[in-house]
Amino acid sequence: MEEIPKSHPRYVSLITRERLSQSMKKGLVHETGLIAHGRGEAFDYLIGEKTIPPAEDAEKIAAAVLLCAKNPVISVNGNVVALAAEGCINLAESIPAKLEVNLFHRTDERIEKLENELKKHGAEKIYGTTANAHIPGLNHNRGLCDKEGIFTADIVLVSLEDGDRCQALKDMDKTVIAIDLNPLSRTAKTANITIVDNVIRAIPNIKKWVRKLKDRDRTVLEEMIMLWDNNKMLNDVSSFISKRLNSLF
Ligand code: ATP
Repeated sequence: MEEIPKSHPRYVSLITRERLSQSMKKGLVHETGLIAHGRGEAFDYLIGEKTIPPAEDAEKIAAAVLLCAKNPVISVNGNVVALAAEGCINLAESIPAKLEVNLFHRTDERIEKLENELKKHGAEKIYGTTANAHIPGLNHNRGLCDKEGIFTADIVLVSLEDGDRCQALKDMDKTVIAIDLNPLSRTAKTANITIVDNVIRAIPNIKKWVRKLKDRDRTVLEEMIMLWDNNKMLNDVSSFISKRLNSLF
């Protein structure tokens, strides 16, 4: 890895780029994943590279939804494995939830590398490696899924998602939790719960809330979920960004 001094004002951002670049060279991340990351970085810059209050609220609700689920699945792609493999495994164990690999640029080689990487970090079973089911209406590789995983899941947590699959999952009557730094994306607008935060911060934050809410009465969690208004939260994100930009100049 390139030597990046800790004192550099953009240390975290540079380390993250370096990690993605290395993961691309190892064949875990597709080259277009670097472009997707760039879009995410731009929005992270706008929110101040911190978890903002509407994201913290969404992370809390996401934890409640995952705890109430019958068959929750955390869907991961190359970027997510590169940036948050350990966090995803810990989160999955704490709920408990299944981990499934889902790729747009899917090859057997990449699937195997991602499975090995997750196992190296302690994961036991990875779903989606031999895709034996298909999400109706999706005629690209992201439609491939696991019968015991995403196909039959009631709740799916997705990150760096495209709007098509998010809509297709909702059409299957699943609840979709999306982590997406872009509040304007089709995914952000389609998901039931949108977390406008970096996946690096969002995953451990959801886990923090899982720990805090785990022993709460189920009816309390269900009431919290019922009161969630995703459009209001997206409006709050938009107001936050506008106010922040106005205060900067
Ligand atoms: P849509 O189809 O939903 O409009 P899109 O075409 O923008 O989405 P992609 O190009 O696949 O989707 O980009 C993935 C999304 O992931 C982008 O909106 C980007 O902001 C977001 N993103 C990138 N990196 C991160 C990250 N580290 N954490 C959270 N979100 C991220």
